[in-house]
Amino acid sequence: MQLKIKDRFNKELPADPILVNTRRQVENACFSYAAPKTTAQPVLLHVSPEMLLELGLKEDDTKTETFLNVFTGNSILPNTKPYAMCYGGHQFGNWAGQLGDGRAINLAEIEHKNKHWAIQLKGAGETPYSRTADGLAVLRSSVREYLCSEAMHHLGVPTTRALSLALSGDDVIRDMLYDGNAAYEKGAIVCRVAPTFVRFGNFQILAARNDKETLKTLVDYTIRHHFSHLGSPSKKTYLRFFETVLDSTLEMIIHWQRVGFVHGVMNTDNMSILGQTIDYGPYGWLEGYDHNWTPNTTDSQFKRYRFGAQLEIGHWNLYQLANALYPLIEEAEGLENILKSYNEKAKTQYLTMMRSKLGLFSEEASDIELIFSLEDLLQLTETDMTIFFRNLSDFSIEKQSEGLDIIKDAFYVINDVSDTIRLKWKSWFESYTERLKKETVSFEDRKKKMNLINPKYVLRNYMAQLAIDDANKGDYKLIDELFQLLRKPYNEQPENEKWFAKRPDWARHKVGCSMLSCSS
Ligand code: AMP
Ligand code: MG
Repeated sequence: MQLKIKDRFNKELPADPILVNTRRQVENACFSYAAPKTTAQPVLLHVSPEMLLELGLKEDDTKTETFLNVFTGNSILPNTKPYAMCYGGHQFGNWAGQLGDGRAINLAEIEHKNKHWAIQLKGAGETPYSRTADGLAVLRSSVREYLCSEAMHHLGVPTTRALSLALSGDDVIRDMLYDGNAAYEKGAIVCRVAPTFVRFGNFQILAARNDKETLKTLVDYTIRHHFSHLGSPSKKTYLRFFETVLDSTLEMIIHWQRVGFVHGVMNTDNMSILGQTIDYGPYGWLEGYDHNWTPNTTDSQFKRYRFGAQLEIGHWNLYQLANALYPLIEEAEGLENILKSYNEKAKTQYLTMMRSKLGLFSEEASDIELIFSLEDLLQLTETDMTIFFRNLSDFSIEKQSEGLDIIKDAFYVINDVSDTIRLKWKSWFESYTERLKKETVSFEDRKKKMNLINPKYVLRNYMAQLAIDDANKGDYKLIDELFQLLRKPYNEQPENEKWFAKRPDWARHKVGCSMLSCSS
């Protein structure tokens, strides 16, 4: 197995000099060296072929002992020093102090075809940042992270990636619902990959500790290595850096709204500086279109991270990042102006995205009403988001389609669609018809374009749970089936039509399907 190792991270950033994994507050440092825990009996369950290619590895490599040992923490790549990163964060709106990579250990940074990747094991044991936990991960959350991060990539949503999913062979104790019923579960390890895993929280912790020197080192490092197109570090460049992070964060959240993804824990420690979706915990996919929905039961009271609030939370999180960068800029105005631009940008981009979901590729002032009235209508009865938008591309004014006929499969309970609601749909489709007449693209072209925006297949919550239930029994076929399905989420896949279906009734209130906790 040949990986081209780069050693620049360790040389440039201050490291925590203590070489043990014991938990502690790590000051004046950006990371701590930490050795992955050796595992009892690791078994490789799945490898992403796309990610293998990206890293310059071959299918044959995955059959070697080296591959298994490296990506489960049992051996360390030559000339590398694994480390865990120091970060803090606002959790559910409150400053939580040092969090850090409690169970993620960066193995190395590598380069392939001019791309730079950090490779990390999640669930590899304690680090200085583990607080009261064990640093391990269970199979259920690892399957969810592995499948979803690769699925998001294929959906065109910026995301961290996953190379492999493995069992550790160790059992891990978890109180899944935090209700006093702890039980043993199978331990697992995901190998995650991203250009960098630096988060908003990496800057925040240094600002919170008034450690301006280390803050500057980290910001300059980040700009030099990941935002070099912005120019060499200076106050001006710091502002451009902030604006770039704002833009990419916004773009990522617009994609979430497009595909119906709810992150579930948009704490500032879960915001990548690259605007990539990171930390797949109690995330979920909208089934019924509902702005108030969150999959995270820990957040069920205030629903801070509900689907309809994600854009607003993005802004709140960026505000915290601006505060963290302020000590280097010492002038609020520039940061404030960039922050102020967010709402207008968000509104414009949201409208463009929603227009494209409706097959509208020109702009009319009345589009806002058409879109808002659709959002209201979708929430009057439980209407499946994915099926609704996918089927909408069949609506044709040329063929004089009957709107309700086209979308009827998206309704969860057809009897809930009262006469009043039917009339509202009828009138919405009349407005939609009028609007489509102003478009110049043909029905066929519109359908093609819409089908590249509205996915046919997403990782519905119950689908991941079915794969997890099987995996817990030692059957891993469904992991592969879903992985293959989700490689081409926009394609018609007649053999996989069964996955283009509403959530089955048994999954409505099942743990893991609609109710998820942060326990992982
Ligand atoms: P997450 O839910 O992955 O965003 O985790 C929040 C923080 O808790 C991160 O610092 C994690 O590394 C840490 N954490 C979560 N689970 C564990 C665990 N089992 N052991 C140690 N740290 C953990
Ligand atoms: Mg996290």
